[in-house]
Amino acid sequence: MSCYECGGKLKHSVTTLHLQKEGKPVFIEEVPVTVCMQCGEEYLSGSVAEKVGEFLDKGLQPKISLCVPVFNYKVAV
Ligand SMILES: [Zn+2]
Repeated sequence: MSCYECGGKLKHSVTTLHLQKEGKPVFIEEVPVTVCMQCGEEYLSGSVAEKVGEFLDKGLQPKISLCVPVFNYKVAV
């Protein structure tokens, strides 16, 4: 299997997913992915995506909670 974007070689890795749950940002660490060694595109397998959805629905307690700074572009520029 090769990258759909650039045709580069893929390798197994882990990543941190950035998702939204009920409008709030959620990070999930150490999610297994396949990543392109050339362009860095990440691919999530169907079974992994399914498990991520399942445990978000279960409402598991997070490992830690972060306070995330939010900037507004119009105010900042
Ligand atoms: Zn690629």
